[in-house]
Amino acid sequence: MKIALIAHDKKKQDMIDLCVKYRDVLDGHDLYATGTTGTMVMGETGLKIIRMKSGPLGGDQQIGSMVAEKNLDMIIFLRDPLTAQPHEPDVTALLRLSDVMNIPLATNVSSATIMLEDLKLRKQL
Ligand code: PGA
Repeated sequence: MKIALIAHDKKKQDMIDLCVKYRDVLDGHDLYATGTTGTMVMGETGLKIIRMKSGPLGGDQQIGSMVAEKNLDMIIFLRDPLTAQPHEPDVTALLRLSDVMNIPLATNVSSATIMLEDLKLRKQL
């Protein structure tokens, strides 16, 4: 599967913790991420990740174009709902497009955990 990882700044440690916990599950998939998220997760896990531009510089839109092309299977987007984001329109566009295309998208650790547990189960079958 092609999986995209995005985390706002205050959620980056949560993303790292999640990727460390599910490292072996994620390792079997093609991983994409916005720039800073990808750099941090790669540094902490050693996972190979294709990095887009940083979110505020167009990375969310690059992920969105993959969604539009039906070239992405799952998104984990740990949003920070308590901090204003300069690229909020891009965030909203990505969420909207993912719903249009019916792409599984987790916006918090609890929902991401359910999706990753599902991937883990499928791996064991
Ligand atoms: P970043 O982008 O991974 O480059 O920080 C994430 C975002 O804020 O959308």
